[in-house]
Formats: sequence, structure tokens, C-alpha cells
Amino acid sequence: MKCGKPVRCSEQEYCWDCAHKRHIYERGVSLWLHKEPVNASIYRFKYYNQRFYASFYAAEIVKSYESLIKRWAPEFILAIPLHSRRRKKRGYNQAELLASELGRLLKIPVSFKLIRRVQDTEPQKSLDSRKRQRNLEKAFAAEWLHVRPYSVLVIDDIYTTGNTIDAAAKVLKEAGVQKVYFLTISIGQGY
Ligand SMILES: [Zn+2]
Repeated sequence: MKCGKPVRCSEQEYCWDCAHKRHIYERGVSLWLHKEPVNASIYRFKYYNQRFYASFYAAEIVKSYESLIKRWAPEFILAIPLHSRRRKKRGYNQAELLASELGRLLKIPVSFKLIRRVQDTEPQKSLDSRKRQRNLEKAFAAEWLHVRPYSVLVIDDIYTTGNTIDAAAKVLKEAGVQKVYFLTISIGQGY
């Protein structure tokens, strides 16, 4: 009911993670569990310049979640930003590619100006959960231009603990956004 992670039985509303901590975002969903062959696919999308995967992922998202996204009614689709240094090195931000493709298919405006990454965080996979959270707390800043959307949809590639989405949701809400939803390609299996 919160992060969208599959749970063991249908009576269970929240996964262990969501039952034990308060997320800042409203709700989210992912396309697939983060296991073979999905994890290898995302790895190529992210690090091996397989940018064209974005249109496949976006089409799958539309197939599964178009009506849900319409219910959330985001005024903008955003992407979790990379720090400019990292973006320059990689040449692209995979989450932006996916967001653009999704925006095009669903006819929802896409904006990459509403949040930016102000700190280049260490790779999250090398840190434990508390450190991840601390690491992310000051990573984002909201860039308030002339719009103040009520509802936004944030795109990222993988959902693990939710700390990244929560950190982004925090700055967005501080800047006046009321509802933050997320959508990722894959999600960790959890508990
Ligand atoms: Zn959950």
C-alpha cells in the first residue's frame, strides 16, 4: 500500500520496511523485482549507454500503470537528478531518459529543473541504511521557479530503502508540493 513491494500474504498491507518507518512520499510502484534478468538490464541501461531501453521500460510502465498514474494526476514528471559532475562523466541520466519517454507517452509535462543534486553522494550500495539516509539528507535542493505543482511523479531506476525518494520528497514538500509519488523500474525484494 506504500512502496508497492510484494508482500507474503494479501492481508498484509505494508512490507516490513513501510510498517516500521514513515515515508515522506505518498506512494509508489515499480515494474519488476530487482533480480535477473531485470538487474542486468538496468545495469546496461545505466552504465553501458543502452539508452534506447528507456522506451521499452516506459511502454511497460504505461501498460501496467497508466490508470494509476492518471489517478495520481501529477502535473509534472521529475527524475532523481545526478550531480552535474557525475552526469557529465556518464553523459546522461538514465532516470531523465525514462521520465522523458513516459512524459511523451502520457502527455504529462516533464521538468528537470524542480530539483537538483547539490552534493555528489557516495555510491549508496557501499553504505548501511543509517549512513545512506544521512548521506542523502543534504543531497537535493528544490529549484523554485514560477510553478508550484500540487502533485508530482518522481522517476528513478531502482527502489531499495526508499531513502533517495524520501530525500527528494522532503525538499519538494518543503518547497510547497503536496503529493509526491514515485515510479521505478525495479524494487528490492525486501522481507
Ligand atoms: Zn513497503
